[in-house]
Amino acid sequence: MTESADLTEARMRFIYTIRSRGVTDSRVLSAMEKIDRRAFVTGIFIERAYEDTPLPIACGQTISQPSVVALMTEALRVGTRDKVLEIGTGSGYQAAILSVLARRVYTVERHRALAQRAQKVFDALGLANITCIVSDGSHGLPDLAPFDRIIVTAAAEDPPGPLLAQLRVGGIMVIPVGQSDTVQTLIRVLRTEAGFEYEELRAVRFVPLVEGMGQ
Ligand code: SAH
Repeated sequence: MTESADLTEARMRFIYTIRSRGVTDSRVLSAMEKIDRRAFVTGIFIERAYEDTPLPIACGQTISQPSVVALMTEALRVGTRDKVLEIGTGSGYQAAILSVLARRVYTVERHRALAQRAQKVFDALGLANITCIVSDGSHGLPDLAPFDRIIVTAAAEDPPGPLLAQLRVGGIMVIPVGQSDTVQTLIRVLRTEAGFEYEELRAVRFVPLVEGMGQ
């Protein structure tokens, strides 16, 4: 088989694995099909890009497990007119998936080197509706609020107050929370006229949300 036939088969198996983890939303599955995870990993990890596992990226961080990216994206119920905020750009993979589904994506990263690399990948793939901002994401982006959807891809003890405040009424936030570094719970927060409704989705494991800027 040629290399490209191998890659096509590997990507088909990749989508099959994501479906087998319980992701059924066809818009999410087609976004996962469209965005090639290989573009977001580097060096020796490129050949493992289609494995359903987190992989190391620069600055001691990780690109999330693809089935978790898909499940979080599904849980976020993104609409085509939505303005989405992501905290924790990392490789940029989750932001790229969101950019296929939403009108606009703002993604915030505390490590400048990661943000710069992600921006290069967005440019190369022609994903023009993503803005990558270097900042401490626990404060959100007050000047651009409110957001229809907020996704946090690093774990906090509780949803940060500024992020809850920047969620539109009727908006949804998905965030891993928990005190331990090893096991956290993915929760979905719905903002209603009356306040916030919380729903526990599943156990997950993310790198921590860290205050302040990276090196
Ligand atoms: N969504 C990423 C995975 C991110 S790993 C992807 O698709 O690849 C979590 C990321 O959150 C790391 O890059 C880490 O540097 C970043 N992070 C942690 N705390 C942060 C904070 N307070 N503000 C912004 N980014 C933060």
